[in-house]
Order: sequence, then C-alpha cells, then structure tokens
Amino acid sequence: MLQLFDTATQKITPLTMRDPGIVGLYVCGPTVYGPAHVGHGRALLTYDILRRFLEYTGLAVRHVSNITDIDDKIINLARAENRPFLAVAQEWEARWWATMDKMGVLRPTATPHATAYVTEMIDLIASLIDRDFAYATDDGVYLRAGRVPHYGLLSHQSIEDRRAGARVELGEHKEDPIDFVLWKIAKPGEPTWPSPWGEGRPGWHTECVVMSLALLGEGFDLHGGGQDLIFPHHDNERAQATANGQHFARHWMHNGLVTVAGEKMSKSLNNFTTLDELLEHCDPRSYRLLVARAHYRSPLEVNATTIESAASSLARIDALVRRLGEIVPLAPSEEADGLRQRFVTAMENDLDSPSAVAEIFEAVRRANSLSDLGDLAAARALTDMVQELLGALGIEVHGSEVVDSDVADLVARRDLARLDRDFAASDLLRAELEALGWVVEDTPAGTRVHR
Ligand SMILES: [Zn+2]
Repeated sequence: MLQLFDTATQKITPLTMRDPGIVGLYVCGPTVYGPAHVGHGRALLTYDILRRFLEYTGLAVRHVSNITDIDDKIINLARAENRPFLAVAQEWEARWWATMDKMGVLRPTATPHATAYVTEMIDLIASLIDRDFAYATDDGVYLRAGRVPHYGLLSHQSIEDRRAGARVELGEHKEDPIDFVLWKIAKPGEPTWPSPWGEGRPGWHTECVVMSLALLGEGFDLHGGGQDLIFPHHDNERAQATANGQHFARHWMHNGLVTVAGEKMSKSLNNFTTLDELLEHCDPRSYRLLVARAHYRSPLEVNATTIESAASSLARIDALVRRLGEIVPLAPSEEADGLRQRFVTAMENDLDSPSAVAEIFEAVRRANSLSDLGDLAAARALTDMVQELLGALGIEVHGSEVVDSDVADLVARRDLARLDRDFAASDLLRAELEALGWVVEDTPAGTRVHR
C-alpha cells in the first residue's frame, strides 16, 4: 500500500481509500490566461506519475482537476485584448491541453469549469452565512476564518501569526484581516452572476471546495497541488468545508517547486520558461525523467545541464532496448521479478521515485553485462521489465525505429555482407547508412539503426 507524506499531520501515513480499489484524487488545475510554464509541468508530471503508478498496482483513479475560467487575470487580459473573457479562457485552455498531450500527461477523468458551478458555489456561501461563518459587506461575502476549528492546519501557522502578517487591501471591508473573500461584488464592466448579495462572481477558494466535493464526495482520499498552494488556497478550501460541517480531503499532498539557477520559478517574477519552449529543445521524456529523479517534495532545478543529463540517461535505455529488442522470446526471470518488487517498494515509500529510477538504471547496467556475457535470455527478461517499469512512470522506450524500405534494404544487405565476412562491403554499407543520417549499431541480432 502507498505510504504518503500528509501535509496536515506532517507524517508519512498509508493512503487509505474510502471506496476500496478506487482512489479519489483532486488536483488544482490552471487559471487559463497564459502558457503552461515549467513549474506547472513539474506538478502535472508528479501527479501523472502518481496516477500511473497507482493504476500499475491495479487501482482505479478518479482524477478530478479544475479549470479556472473566471478570474481577475483573465478579465484583465480580455479587457486588454478587447474580447469576451470566455474567448480568452477557451483559447488558453485549448493550448493548455495541447501542451499536456505533448508532455504525455494523461487527461484527468473530469475537468470541471468554474463557470459551470456558480449555482453550487452560491448555495455553499448561503449555507456558510446561515451557519454564521460568513457575512456580507458592500464589497462581497467573507468567511470568518478565525472561527474555523484548526484554521491553518496545512500551513501550520497559528491564527495570531496569520493575523500579524495579514493585510487588508484597499476597498476590502472585512471584520478581521485574516477573513477571506467568498463572493466578490462586481466592479463596472466585469462579468457577473446574480446572487442574493448582489451581482458578482465567486472567489477562487470557493471554486475548488465546491467542485471537489461535487465530483468526489465527502471524505475523498487525496487532495494535491504545488507547495505554493498550501496557503492561502488549500487552508481556505478546507476552512469552508469544515465550517459547512463537511468532511473534506483525508490526505494532502504537495509537490516541491521548480528553481532556475536557484530562484523560485513563478509567473509573477516573470522568469519562467514555458513548457512549449522547453519542448522545442528537449524530448518530453527527458523532463519526465528529471522530475522522477528528484523526490516530489524537494525543489527541482531545471536548466540545460540537468535536462541533458536526463536525456543521456534515456539514450542508454533506448540503446539497451535496441540491442536486445527482438532476440529471444520473453522468459520469466527471478531477477526481473526482484527488480519489480524493489521498484514497487520504493514507490510505495512516499513515492521515492529517485530510488525506483536508480533500481531501473542498475538493471540496465546488469542487462548490458548479461548480454556481454552472452546470457541473452536473462538480459532480455530484465530489459522487458525495465520497459514495463518505465511505462509505470509514463516513459516510453524508443527501440528500433521504423525505417523505409530503402533503408531496410541497406540494413539487410549489410547483415548478409557480415554473414559472408565481407567486411569491406559491410563498412561501405555502414557509411551509406550514416550518410543518410542513421546511427548504425552492431547487435547480436544484426544491424540496428536509429536517428
Ligand atoms: Zn484549487
């Protein structure tokens, strides 16, 4: 069973399931007004690896991730571009999914949009007012955070500490600086929905609590997001559910942030590179391997050196698979089973993917030496397991490439020349293939080419 660090208890505890065999996972999704950056990619890959691993161990995953399609930033961009806010949101959402597809990230099983849940959000806010946990002022509705039991449970800050650090923005009329907005009364020219408190729109924290509970139900298993969402977003989601007497997520997971040359990457600092820019320079598998090689709670340094190091590791695996690709039929092997067990044990220990990946690379070294020693069956069984386990992390291995018939003909002629021990002809054919841009390798199964 997967043991996972829980942000609320600060302990590694089993991820228990409310419904046996099905993991209910909610991950905060994007506000769609700009390109996905490398930091988004780390979070997406972390939860994609988690989901694929859970599925690999035979569990089903209900993976809900929202789309924030109404927000100040979307409204501001729409105003600057003089078009409807939904046109902005829809365009950037389409681009978001196109990037995710390129990254090989599985689509969530449900992707609720904030604008489709406004009625439910109004219902929650009305209920919170009834329960005396929320109040309306002339600029909006606020939650009385100080009344919520264990407010700040996830960020581990006392209400007094929060209050000392809180600021009231100009135009906010709240009872206590730590109170947060549930409903914003519209300013002129903003998109609005009618509500008992006036025309306006819901706050971001209200969106996620409503949509996670609507689609996963009370006491769902796991809520995830980046460490930058712990406060205020996740503490405020939890506060609303708690104030409303509802059981919320039972386990909280947060991934570490991305640094570039040691600095936190964020849109507001304007130092991000987009995922699309990154993918122009690297195989999406390299970024995935880089993410898997770091522990998900640690900061991750993304730069040309770390990406290239991941790329060269992948090249070693691709080369092994080309070498052993189709020689002998798969035979069961104790060594391969042992590898799988060590991989699963590492992943179940708070998703220790660095150790799991190290096991895979140790097996690659071992399979190469088995092959050198001529034990092709054992090498192949281990290589098959390497491919299977990389698949559980979402990394596809590139073995022999599909080649056109002219290239296949050159390869076949070279194999015949080698059988005849006509090395002059074999060298000429190698040169011809290389001139066409192919890398030529000699393997026990004959000539292999790849780009
Ligand atoms: Zn959220």
